[in-house]
Amino acid sequence: MAELAGIKLESTRTKKKTLEPLQCSRCQFINSPTSRFCNNCGLELSKEAIDEVNIAKQQAEMLPEYKLIMKEFEEKIKNIQFSEG
Ligand SMILES: [Zn+2]
Repeated sequence: MAELAGIKLESTRTKKKTLEPLQCSRCQFINSPTSRFCNNCGLELSKEAIDEVNIAKQQAEMLPEYKLIMKEFEEKIKNIQFSEG
C-alpha cells in the first residue's frame, strides 16, 4: 500500500502544468495562459488569484488606515444624505 501511495505522489508531482488559454467563466473571454485576471471583465481566473484578493482584502481591513478610510466614507455618505434631506 505504501508503494501505491508513493507512485501516486510521484505521478502528481511530475504532472506538469500545461499552458492552456484560460477561458473566463463569466464572459467566456479567452485569456492568455499567464493571465490571472480576465482581460475583459476582470474576473479572477485562478484560485491563486482569488486567494490573493482575499488575503489583500483581509490585510487591508487590518490596517488602521482602512478603518479611517471607511469612517470617512461613511461620514461622506451621511453628509450626502443630510444635504439631500
Ligand atoms: Zn471575463
